Amino acid sequence: MDREDMAQSAPGADNQVPDLPDCNLYLTDEALVEGVRREGAGGREAELETWGARLGRADLARLAAEVNRQGPALRAYDRRGVRIDVVDFHPGWTEFLSLAFAQGMHGAAWTEPGPGAHVARAAHYLMHGQVEAGSLCPVTMTSAAIPLLARESWFATVRPLLASREYDAHDRPLAQKRAMMIGMGMTERQGGSDLRANLSRAEPQGGGWFRLTGHKWFFSSPMSDAHLVLARDGDGHSCFYMPRWLDDGRRNPVRILRLKDKLGNRSNASAEVEFEDALARRIGEPGRGIATLVEMASYTRLDCVLGSAALMRQALVQGIHHARHRRAFGRLLIDQPLMRQVLADLALESEAATALALRLAGAFDRADQPAEQALRRLLTPAAKFWVCKRAIDVTAECMEVWGGNGYVEDGPMARLYREAPVNSIWEGSGNVMCLDVLRAARQEPQLAAQTVDGLARAHAGEPALRAAADRLLAALALGAEEQQAMGRMIARDLVLLVQADLLLRHAPEALSRAFVDSRLGAPGGDAFGVRPVALATDALLRRAWPE
Ligand SMILES: Cc1cc2nc3c(=O)[nH]c(=O)nc-3n(C[C@H](O)[C@H](O)[C@H](O)COP(=O)(O)OP(=O)(O)OC[C@H]3O[C@@H](n4cnc5c(N)ncnc54)[C@H](O)[C@@H]3O)c2cc1C
Repeated sequence: MDREDMAQSAPGADNQVPDLPDCNLYLTDEALVEGVRREGAGGREAELETWGARLGRADLARLAAEVNRQGPALRAYDRRGVRIDVVDFHPGWTEFLSLAFAQGMHGAAWTEPGPGAHVARAAHYLMHGQVEAGSLCPVTMTSAAIPLLARESWFATVRPLLASREYDAHDRPLAQKRAMMIGMGMTERQGGSDLRANLSRAEPQGGGWFRLTGHKWFFSSPMSDAHLVLARDGDGHSCFYMPRWLDDGRRNPVRILRLKDKLGNRSNASAEVEFEDALARRIGEPGRGIATLVEMASYTRLDCVLGSAALMRQALVQGIHHARHRRAFGRLLIDQPLMRQVLADLALESEAATALALRLAGAFDRADQPAEQALRRLLTPAAKFWVCKRAIDVTAECMEVWGGNGYVEDGPMARLYREAPVNSIWEGSGNVMCLDVLRAARQEPQLAAQTVDGLARAHAGEPALRAAADRLLAALALGAEEQQAMGRMIARDLVLLVQADLLLRHAPEALSRAFVDSRLGAPGGDAFGVRPVALATDALLRRAWPE
């Protein structure tokens, strides 16, 4: 009997683990369900439950793997040699964007506002991001562009296209489309963090239109119907709306030079482009383009947090599923005390990330309240730094739970691992996020101190929170240079305090106890499973992924 026959005649005899079966990504995620209710989107649960079932189908997971295996390709010219700058995608790409549009992730939080609109969108994002992460990029940028464009006098002409729930993949002028997508172009060869170095130039053409020359070194979703780009004009750096097609039916000369060969995020296209007198419309305040695009980035950074929490969740679920089926030394991995420690520690991290991401989305819904606005300003860059960093470690550790099978591209773990770092890099890399936390704290020092102090005061019986808050307050009082050097510690501790506060108030006691003891009370933490979470492993693992 050969190996294949053996496996078929005695299921499980080869100790290989079956794929995850169909499951409901909403109902199986207690942290998500509780967070949605807590943060004000309880009225959207029926919809989320339906989508949870749809997105949790095993055939969709297989399609996601395909879409990432066969990434996009540039077709710069047509067969007659005419420049067309088209990117071809795997057919499944359209499927994932259609799902994302139907979910409303490309803008419903703005175009269909209501109680919990950002939280409901966040929940959609947390589910979709577990299945196919590449398609998040175009819908994130489209959504983040809407509040900026909504201030323009001509917004009504594009609003119906942005509000549409029907994805339209056609590459043609907006007048012939049912929906549209928007990207953003800031990063140039000489630097993406310091946008003041941007060299692209804009010459006025009249009527608010400009002619742009220059390049962008990273320009994701190049097939979008428009991009918001940064360029210099007579007023300094301004923000411009650059359509792919012009009203007269010609292609705007935005030349795609090549597609980036990326570590992960392979289903999605990211290009290098050159503007050859491309026409664009100035938006926002003249000369304040960096501020305009930084506002856009405040929305995309929330999505980086959500996307990272989604990757963690999927990696964790895959890890627990594997450990429940794979045997070593006569026992299932899940029954091995050391593996339980590792998985329980990972479950803590994932739950804390989900709770934090939904809390942050709730603050976007409640932006009219000054305290929520202040929290959002301080916490968004901190969460973008810490949660995105943790996703890299979580996906790596979950990959190891799968052993060698985790490292090969046949299964889902390698892709999750390769996907994780991008959230930490784009939309402002880790250090830049930490510096932004310090900037926010300097802008509103009293509010920052009150926020930190309040997190400790809310839990008077928790000395570890008090100690962390005092450490943080002392660091926030330092001089600028010294404070910068401690930027990462400050951002991390702020996030840990908020996560501890959320879990102490809302999670089962065993879980919050384990989180506080292992994250704030114990030294170490250089690898998952090092810190003591022993007593809580049963409860943590059952809650994390039902058997
Ligand atoms: C897949 C992918 C897609 C992308 N898509 C887009 C896109 O669509 N549009 C777009 O505009 N950009 C895009 N980017 C670019 C991305 O936003 C930038 O790469 C990122 O902002 C960092 O800029 P940089 O690469 O120029 O690095 P640099 O600015 O050179 O920074 C390098 C490192 O130095 C650190 N650093 C910078 N300043 C400081 C400081 N003062 N103190 C300490 N450390 C510092 C940064 O944190 C970073 O780690 C994309 C990137 C990737 C990887």
